[in-house]
Amino acid sequence: MATKEINNTDNENNKPHIAFIGLGNMGAPMAENLLKAGYRLSVYDLSAEANERLQQSGARVANSPKDAASNAQVVISMLPAGKHVHSVYLGENGANGLLAALPKGTLVIDSSTIAAADARLVAEAASKLGIDFLDAPVSGGTGGAIAGSLTFIVGGDSEAFAKAEPILEVMGKNIFHAGDHGAGQVAKICNNMLLGILMAGTAEAINLGVKNGLDPKVLSDIMLQSSGRNWTLEVYNPYPQVLENVPSSNGYKGGFMSKLMQKDLNLAMQTAQDTQVETPMGAKAAELYEAHALENGDRDFSSIIGRHDSSLLS
Ligand code: NAD
Repeated sequence: MATKEINNTDNENNKPHIAFIGLGNMGAPMAENLLKAGYRLSVYDLSAEANERLQQSGARVANSPKDAASNAQVVISMLPAGKHVHSVYLGENGANGLLAALPKGTLVIDSSTIAAADARLVAEAASKLGIDFLDAPVSGGTGGAIAGSLTFIVGGDSEAFAKAEPILEVMGKNIFHAGDHGAGQVAKICNNMLLGILMAGTAEAINLGVKNGLDPKVLSDIMLQSSGRNWTLEVYNPYPQVLENVPSSNGYKGGFMSKLMQKDLNLAMQTAQDTQVETPMGAKAAELYEAHALENGDRDFSSIIGRHDSSLLS
C-alpha cells in the first residue's frame, strides 16, 4: 500500500489530475468533457480503439489502471458491471487491485451501474486504505454524456461528495447526494425499475388501443392529458412516428439498449431479494425484458412494444 499523502490540486491550473478508466459509450464523452474543461487526464481502456479516441482528444494513454493513476489525485471509472469494477479496484482474487496502489486521500468515483452490495464492498476496502470512494451512477444516457447534462446519483460521505461535486458538474447538470455508500446505486436502480415498468405498461396500453382501432398518436395525446401521463409518453413514446427524434422512430437504434435495462432490472431484483422487499411489478418487468432481450438486446428498450406486434421491429 502506498502511504504518501496526496495534495489534491498539484496541477498547474489548480485542477486535480484525473485517471479515467473505461472509455465506452458513456466513459469516452464524459472524459472528453473533462478534457474540454481543462483537466489533465490519464486514461485506460482494454480497447485500443477507445484509447486512441481519447489520445486524439488530448489525454495521456496509460498501459494499466495503476499507470493511469500514478500521478492522479482523482480516479473515475465507467465500467460495464460489478465484476469489472471489482477486478479493477480489488484485483482478480481480492488482491493486487488498483486501490492498494493509490496514495491515501485519493478520491475514487465509480460511475458504473452495479449492485449496491458490490459498491459497498469496494467502499469498505477503500476506507481501510484511507481512500475516499463514491458510487456515482448516472442517468441521462449517451446523449446526456455527450452534452454534459447527466444526472449523478451519489453515495458516500459528505466530505468526499463535496470534493467530487465540481468535477461531476463538468459532466452533469444535476448532482444528488443520495446518502451513504451504496445509496447512489440503490436510487439509480429504483428509478430504472420504475422506468422499465412504465415503458412496458405504456407499450401495453398503446397496443391495446391500436388493436381496438385507435390511432397511436391520438391515443398518446389523450393519455398525455389524462391520468396515465408519464415520462415515456412525454418524451420517449415506444410507438413509431408518434414522436420525432426518439429511437422508436429510428428503427429502435441508439438510446438505452434493452440488455442494459435487463441488467438494471436484475440488479433491482437482486437488491429486493437480498433485503426481502416485495417488488411484483418490477419482477414482471424483469421477466418481460429478459425474454425480450434474448433477440433484441441491442435495440433500444422502447422496442419492448414489439412483443405485442413484431412487425414494428422489422
Ligand atoms: P460500454 O460497454 O460501451 O463501455 C465500457 C468500457 O469499459 C468498454 O470500452 C470496455 O472496453 C471497458 N472495460 C471493460 N473492462 C475493463 C477493464 N478491466 N479495464 C479497463 N476498461 C475496461 O458501456 P457503457 O454504455 O459506456 O456503460 C458503462 C456503464 O454505465 C454501465 O455500467 C452501464 O450500465 C451504465 N450506464 C449506461 C448508460 C447508456 O445509455 N449506455 C446509461 C446510464 C448508465
